[in-house]
Amino acid sequence: MIRNIQNIIPGIATSDGAGVKLRRSLGGQNQLRLDPFLMLDEFSSNDPNDYVAGFPAHPHRGFETVTYMLEGHMLHQDHLGNQGHLKTGGVQWMTAGRGIIHSEMPQQVSGAMRGFQLWINLPAKEKMKAAGYKDIQVEDIPTVRLLNGGSVKIIAGAYNHEGSEVRGPIQGITTAPLFLDVHLPSNAEFEHHIAKELNAFVYVYEGDLELGGPMRAVPKQAAIILGDGDRLKAKAGDAGAQFIVLAALPLHEPVVQYGPFVMNTRAEIEQAIDDYQNNRFVVAQ
Ligand code: MN
Repeated sequence: MIRNIQNIIPGIATSDGAGVKLRRSLGGQNQLRLDPFLMLDEFSSNDPNDYVAGFPAHPHRGFETVTYMLEGHMLHQDHLGNQGHLKTGGVQWMTAGRGIIHSEMPQQVSGAMRGFQLWINLPAKEKMKAAGYKDIQVEDIPTVRLLNGGSVKIIAGAYNHEGSEVRGPIQGITTAPLFLDVHLPSNAEFEHHIAKELNAFVYVYEGDLELGGPMRAVPKQAAIILGDGDRLKAKAGDAGAQFIVLAALPLHEPVVQYGPFVMNTRAEIEQAIDDYQNNRFVVAQ
């Protein structure tokens, strides 16, 4: 059964960090989430005034943050001593767990900065696990070439290509996330199995795309929530299309968010604020 468009969450212009301009679709308001996805930001600008201030040191607890750089260069540093350069095509997968304090600062003062930051929730039993960090370079992300001239980058999960499974570098996560970046030339089609248990969405960042059965045009720069089914079917318009595909198992747990802390109860949020203010993110991990 082909998945159709169930809901459209437009990316709304906002800013975060020290004033980085971005578009927030998922997570723009609390009810605009797709379990286990909490937030999706797209940052895209050729104007350094929109990004140079970056994201100075700030905390997270209770979920994972995934940054995918389409273009540009940022430096990640955290209180555990990790340091990583996020460059064009690379991915940073950070498990905040019980707590991490990090900064993400642009390493350029001109040119384009473009990419995504996605927040994926952790199940209650993993929210207080140790923080972790993976810096994945572009050469470690497999790209499959399609017969129609398109390509698929597999960041997380797997893509079935000519009878064999191509697996992305991110595996072993409880919510079993799928994260693909698909590029299609003019009028090319794309199909992919997405197990019916998974919540899924698509975000078109270049060109034009239609999807579903029957096909319907989808807006750009919006989270397109997919309905029931086990198959994504899409077709690019005359200008081709570039889009990300995300899917994961829902947690069905209560979500209480206070800025960069996402827990299950109000008491756990108060504990997170208290732990952060009393330096317990850094000491006695
Ligand atoms: Mn952050």
